[in-house]
Amino acid sequence: MEDAILHRSQDLLVDVDQRENEMSIGSAWEDKILDWCMSDPDRKTRILQFIDVFPSLRTDAAIVDHLRCYFPESSDRIPLALRTGLRFTGGLLTSRWVSSTVKMIMTQMARRFIGGETEAEAAECVARLKAARLDFSLDFLGEATLSEDEADHNLKSVLSMLNSLSVAPAAAGARINFSIKCSSLTSYLDPVDPDEVARRLLPRIRILLREAASRRAFIHFDAEQYDICDLTLDLLLQGFDEPEFHRTQDVGVVLQAYLTDAEDRAARLIDWCEKRGRTLTVRLVKGAYWDSEVIRARRMGWRVPVYLNKWESDACFERMLYLLMKSHRHIRLAVASHNVRSIAAALSIAQALEVPADRLEFQFLYGMARATRQVLAARGYQVRVYTPYGQLIPGMAYLVRRLLENSSNESFLRHRRLGGQPALELLKSPHAAAAEIRPPAGPAAESPAGFRNAPAVDFHKRGIRDAMARAVRDRLNSPPEKIGPLIGGRRVPGKKFLMSLNPSHPHRVVAEVDLADAGHVEEAARCARRGWETWRKTSAADRGKILHAASSLLAARRHELAALEICEAGKPWEEAEADVAEAIDYLRYYPMEADRIERGIRLQPEIPGEINSAVYKPRGVAAVISPWNFPLAIPAGQTAAALAAGNCVILKPSEQTSLIGYRLVEIYRQAGVPEDVIQFLPGFGEEVGAALVTHPEIDLVAFTGSRAVGEEILSRSAAAGIAPSGPKRVIAEMGGKNAVIVDSDADVDLAVADCLRAAFDYAGQKCSALSRLIVMEDIFDAVLKRFAESAKSYPAGYSEIPSTRLSPLIDVHAQKRVTDYLEIASREGQWILAPDGGRVPREGYFVPPAVLAGSSPRTRTAQEEIFGPLVVALPAKSLGHALEIANGTAYALTGGFYSRHPGRIARVRAEFDVGNLYINRAVTGAVVGRQPFGGHRSSGVGSKAGGPDYLLQFYLPVTVSENISRHGFSPDISR
Ligand code: NAD
Repeated sequence: MEDAILHRSQDLLVDVDQRENEMSIGSAWEDKILDWCMSDPDRKTRILQFIDVFPSLRTDAAIVDHLRCYFPESSDRIPLALRTGLRFTGGLLTSRWVSSTVKMIMTQMARRFIGGETEAEAAECVARLKAARLDFSLDFLGEATLSEDEADHNLKSVLSMLNSLSVAPAAAGARINFSIKCSSLTSYLDPVDPDEVARRLLPRIRILLREAASRRAFIHFDAEQYDICDLTLDLLLQGFDEPEFHRTQDVGVVLQAYLTDAEDRAARLIDWCEKRGRTLTVRLVKGAYWDSEVIRARRMGWRVPVYLNKWESDACFERMLYLLMKSHRHIRLAVASHNVRSIAAALSIAQALEVPADRLEFQFLYGMARATRQVLAARGYQVRVYTPYGQLIPGMAYLVRRLLENSSNESFLRHRRLGGQPALELLKSPHAAAAEIRPPAGPAAESPAGFRNAPAVDFHKRGIRDAMARAVRDRLNSPPEKIGPLIGGRRVPGKKFLMSLNPSHPHRVVAEVDLADAGHVEEAARCARRGWETWRKTSAADRGKILHAASSLLAARRHELAALEICEAGKPWEEAEADVAEAIDYLRYYPMEADRIERGIRLQPEIPGEINSAVYKPRGVAAVISPWNFPLAIPAGQTAAALAAGNCVILKPSEQTSLIGYRLVEIYRQAGVPEDVIQFLPGFGEEVGAALVTHPEIDLVAFTGSRAVGEEILSRSAAAGIAPSGPKRVIAEMGGKNAVIVDSDADVDLAVADCLRAAFDYAGQKCSALSRLIVMEDIFDAVLKRFAESAKSYPAGYSEIPSTRLSPLIDVHAQKRVTDYLEIASREGQWILAPDGGRVPREGYFVPPAVLAGSSPRTRTAQEEIFGPLVVALPAKSLGHALEIANGTAYALTGGFYSRHPGRIARVRAEFDVGNLYINRAVTGAVVGRQPFGGHRSSGVGSKAGGPDYLLQFYLPVTVSENISRHGFSPDISR
């Protein structure tokens, strides 16, 4: 086909160029401004960032302030257009003037890509398109859907537009066509639980299809990001399969050719149609989320799902054209590309396969490739314009995507406009490029040190979901396991007994635990001291090999361990998986660090006659005392650090998660950690923990837990006297009362979505969880309303249900404690979201989500760590005031700031006193090696876990200075 395609492309391009010249008179200046804005990468970044923040700027002063921040150099302070505009009017640079000029430019720019702000404007736009013999597909631009209420509102808006268009005289005769994103019809679109998504989404889809059918309107479902694309496609097909919609032909779906598995999806769709004898419309696009797909995959450690070279997507697009048109009896194809070569390919393939005219149309984005669409319409092809409408504020994200696309170095339109490449080069076959260019390697690059995080679990893969579901079922059906102390590799009887219960179903016993007591501490300490004599002499490399083997065992049993966390700690699916991943990381990260540290450092090597080195030696025996809330990751990190640095370990897990601690020790033993090197003492903190802290053979205590216990351990260990290596070293990671500040110009969609997760996932039982939401006064009410409303739709339930995010509390004591705090809170402020028991199951240790406002920052609710799903909202008058509130507790663990003002971000970086500061992202979910974790003040002493300083604490630093000169001869200087 190549000759035919090339010939047709050239022919089309001649017409397109000619039409472009005729049209350019009206829009040349707009294109010039766009090209100018986008031609310099730095300027482009600033402009896109400014466009992104612009809708949230509510005052003239805010607009001017942000302009100055984004365009600081005097020559380039404001975009050319604004400067030109200013010159023409000869006006003074008053705030009002500047801001209204900017508003005018923004509106103009937005209007180029957005059909109208209101229903009436959208109807007029449709009429204009109709007059130009163009069809349309309307896309309602909304905010991110964070609650089911918002999803209802979005549906209502679309139905209302459907209704008004069907009676609008201007649009009379036009066949109504809507494009809908599934993400606008539900606040829950997580592939981990397709049933829950179906439960929320399908009822709205049914209403929409019914209403559309009654008006003979067509509904096209847009494709969105990769991890939900199979989920939404499956659900849509499931909906279309319902008897009520069996005959529906007026629906369409989208396939994205930039996805490396796009052809499989196309084949699946064709198969679905063939089996049912049905026809579907397929819009074939290359894809609009390339950057975010690459970013997300790299961050999660996943294979990048998109082609990395543009020509690969182009080639796939052409292969898919063929595949889909071959099935034209079942597929109506909408070719959605602005690339003349791709369009010509579609036309040539259609001709070759004798595709009937009514089985093919071309689609263009509103405001783009206008010449091309006119040429096609003039040649008699059906042309549809994808026309977004809606308020500019939510429209800005859309605008940024369009500008990115328009300015991409790979964009056909841009190349053509700038005339940089000869036509033949632009039109050449993407398949030929395959022969010329070798694709770069796909997967994420290794970090320089060679450490790579375990990939996040990708529940969008059915196989992984099913494997996890099996593991959870198996665990739920398992009888209670009997465990107890392990000393010198031997299981020794305990003196007391404890039952570890499932927090979702407390009548279910997960483990029967024989508990250690102070006598066991004595025995374990002696055993560990013995073990140390050989372990300390084992090389860092050999210790590392064992830890790596243990890490591989954890990875191989990932689902099984996550399932155990779900049942013993009540962790939700994704949280449990993330905890196991973090454990895997620690067991690889710390040996790598040990290897680096134990190589030692040669100090001032330029000084001759002497070798000065800093070397590090293991301390001795470490007691590890861990909490239940990261039941595997925290003890794994603490023990791996101790072992990697050549210390022996006595692990006392949390009472509530003894079985998970036991499993970890089993895995260490299986991997080859010698029997004397690791001891396991399940037991009560006040008894076994306290005995360990004061035991004379314990050199180091690695504790993570509450502030009260941590402070007690610090003072007791100081008073306990001298261990073999000297005064006891205590690493204490303690609690937090974490604040997030939401600035006036924040991206509220992002802030609310992140804050929900940070506050309510795992019922707020994370040291890093958000518990104080500080919002600038001017947006306080609006943000709080959305936050509280969204919290109502937040999935709460039993931990074994995949969609659950707000899970039960760990035990009955925690439930009582948090419930008592709710009582205190109700006296200290007013509920914005009152704790409503109806939102959570009755069985299990649940506490419903709650949001309080109107309390002072000094109240107990705003000062004390509560460790439950309760958020205190506090308004701030200024950024200084916000920081004063944020820093005004005893803790300094995590903090967050949502803002798009570079100057204010800089101030917060300097003044927000926390161990981990997160800007424009959630305050939970630190990753080993990427976000080393830990706080100061009452949140902890010690260096950060998962970072380069942490391991040093497990060593005794020694300086060795050797004189290598003998009677005036020194090998490093004498010849
Ligand atoms: P906790 O303090 O009650 O218990 C932690 C561990 O200490 C348990 O193993 C417990 O048995 C033991 N313990 C209790 N009393 C003891 C004593 N007198 N002497 C020695 N050991 C004793 O904490 P928890 O409820 O298990 O965990 C939740 C707390 O942990 C929260 O405050 C949370 O913020 C904090 N935490 C902090 C971090 C961090 O990295 N900073 C991480 C996770 C949890």
